[in-house]
Amino acid sequence: IHIYNEAFENRKPFSMEYRLRHVSGEYRWILDKGIPNYNIGGDFIGYIGHCLDITEQKNIEQEIKKSKEKAEESDRLKTAFLANMSHEIRTPMNGILGFAELLKEPNLSGEEQFEYIKIIEKSGARMLNIINDIIDISKIESGLIKVNINESNINSQIDYVYKFFKPEVERKGLKLIRSNSVPDEEIIVKTDREKLFAILTNLVKNAIKYSEHGSIEFGYEKKDQYLEFFVKDCGIGIRKERLNAIFERFVQEDISDLKARQGVGLGLAIAKSYVEMLGGKIWAESEIGIGSTFYFTIPFDKGEDNQLIHWKRSIKNQKGHAANLKILIVEDDEISEHLITKGVKIFGKEILKAQTGDQAIEICRNNNDIDLILMDIQLPILGGYDAVRKIRMFNNEVVIIAQTAYGLVGDREKAIKAGCNDYLSKPIDRSELHSLIKKHCGKKVRVSHRSMN
Ligand code: ADP
Repeated sequence: IHIYNEAFENRKPFSMEYRLRHVSGEYRWILDKGIPNYNIGGDFIGYIGHCLDITEQKNIEQEIKKSKEKAEESDRLKTAFLANMSHEIRTPMNGILGFAELLKEPNLSGEEQFEYIKIIEKSGARMLNIINDIIDISKIESGLIKVNINESNINSQIDYVYKFFKPEVERKGLKLIRSNSVPDEEIIVKTDREKLFAILTNLVKNAIKYSEHGSIEFGYEKKDQYLEFFVKDCGIGIRKERLNAIFERFVQEDISDLKARQGVGLGLAIAKSYVEMLGGKIWAESEIGIGSTFYFTIPFDKGEDNQLIHWKRSIKNQKGHAANLKILIVEDDEISEHLITKGVKIFGKEILKAQTGDQAIEICRNNNDIDLILMDIQLPILGGYDAVRKIRMFNNEVVIIAQTAYGLVGDREKAIKAGCNDYLSKPIDRSELHSLIKKHCGKKVRVSHRSMN
């Protein structure tokens, strides 16, 4: 109205866009244009113009605007990424291409060939690390990473990290020490197991990378409402003024001896994001030439389900167990099958075995009273996840726990998506296996438990 009036008073053309509500309830965009109209005598007699429905055009414009903004934002991120990454990617690529070229030369000795191949392998591995870090940080930045809270046995996580890094640490002539301050029964915490693992792994990896001698010690302590983890090394140390900056993306300490320490400066940024997602804090203390200690906290959330802990205690304290589950073990590797059979023996009234996905499906069809399936994922021909999907078509009741040897972030989601109730990564930790069985077959186990008392 205001525009109309103003144009009218000044005898000016007008042009405006507005929305009208259509009888259908839908809003339509209108383009309304008019110019003053005069008769032959030059007297103003009104306006002539038109109204156009420009809804479609408007929608397209808005779409374009949105995607333009999005593109600009991701352009900005991309530029930052590329600038920083270029060097780190070129270096191993240089190694791979350069030594592949050298390999082509005739008359190389076997030793030389072996040496070149080793360099190519090493450069490839370095490249893979960088790619993994880039993928993780991109996922974090685009908000694609979800927190997946489950009950996690902290001591077995520590053990796992310990076993994982021990050989590497010893190869470098260092010593790895773990310290668990809370006894076994009390360390089931509700947290994101895979993120916790990634954080610990990143810190221990750095401790190895930036140490030349001495020991690396890691573990945790229980403080009020949280667990405080630490990873302590006797490495090169970090200057005080850099202690905060190193947690930022792409930031690295200036070190002259860069040759030995590769990396893109993403590890700590990833660790920091994960710690914050879990509701904790991360920081470091360090002295040049003496060593560094990295700390982080996570809330000590035991969750409502304390029965788990009680149940674990009773397993420890009593000889007899609730052996009333019908269990199917699907595993093609004989040694793994042996191990897992031993692991579930105390729960099994009957244990069936299958070596392939097809066999597993067949056995399930013929035994609709199976309570629990322990499904290996790396099966030949029909993979474990496919087998689970097929079993789920006719049996939604049975509890399925997947086991994978990958131990990757995302394994769990994949397993759940395929229809598993939970997942374990190999090497299978017996107490974790027990916790999961209790968690998912709890009712059965508990009922018989009471009857045994
Ligand atoms: P990257 O190790 O790939 O460079 P990080 O984000 O893991 O990236 O670490 C950032 C920087 O922090 C490293 O470049 C290094 O300078 C420093 N740093 C991290 N951990 C340690 C450590 N344990 N001892 C000494 N310096 C460290």
